[in-house]
Order: sequence, then C-alpha cells, then structure tokens
Amino acid sequence: MSNDDCLFCKIVAREIPSTVVRESERTLSFRDVSPLAPTHVLVIPKEHHRDAAALVAADPMAMAEVLSEASAVAEQEGLEAFRLIFNTGSEAGQSIFHAHGHVLGGRPLSWPPG
Ligand code: C5P
Repeated sequence: MSNDDCLFCKIVAREIPSTVVRESERTLSFRDVSPLAPTHVLVIPKEHHRDAAALVAADPMAMAEVLSEASAVAEQEGLEAFRLIFNTGSEAGQSIFHAHGHVLGGRPLSWPPG
C-alpha cells in the first residue's frame, strides 16, 4: 500500500529519482541526498508505514528484511563499523513519515548523539 502524499512512496514508484544501492522484495536502499557521513544510505520498506514502530507492529517480517538489508548495505559499502538509526517521531528528528533506517559509516561516530 502506498500513500500519494509520501515522498518515499514516490521514490519506491520511481516517480522521484534516487541513487539506489540495493533492492529486495520488500525493501529499497538508496543514498541520502544530504549525507552526514561518507556512507549514508536509507533502507525503507516498499509499503508505507509511518515509522519503525508502526512497521514492526504491522509487519515484523518486513522490519526483519529492513534490518537484514541494512547489514547487507554496510557489507557492500565495506564498512567494518556502522550505525543504524530509526528516528521515530518528530521530537526524535523524524522528518519523513515513511519508516526508514539510516545506515551511517565511513568516519568515526561519536556517542551520545545530539
Ligand atoms: O530521520 P529523518 O526523517 O529526518 O530522515 C529523512 C532523511 O531523508 C534525511 O536524512 C534527508 O536528507 C533524506 N531525504 C532524502 N531524499 C529526499 C528527501 C529527504 O534522502 N528527497
């Protein structure tokens, strides 16, 4: 199911261009347009779910596929260390309300995040 007003649904439908790095049955992985690290890839379910919590509640297997694709992206990008982040809710920094994991790596990453 897709949402007509959702930017990431339009990326899945190829109505908006993106740089795809991997695709699986239920997921798409593409480079973030404003990268925060040498590798910054977004892994999304093809179906529309507003955030990671909604995704895992509705379709745990799709979330499992997002997690496994995130690991595959890291391996494909040659990352020995990486961070996988799901901003969930606007106060946590979520700006696009279609579930997505950020795969970040290629530089030292500090902790805690801001
Ligand atoms: O976690 P958050 O919702 O803030 O992440 C959304 C991400 O989507 C941002 O990192 C932003 O740079 C990215 N983005 C993108 N392509 C777009 C619009 C946003 O990669 N066309």
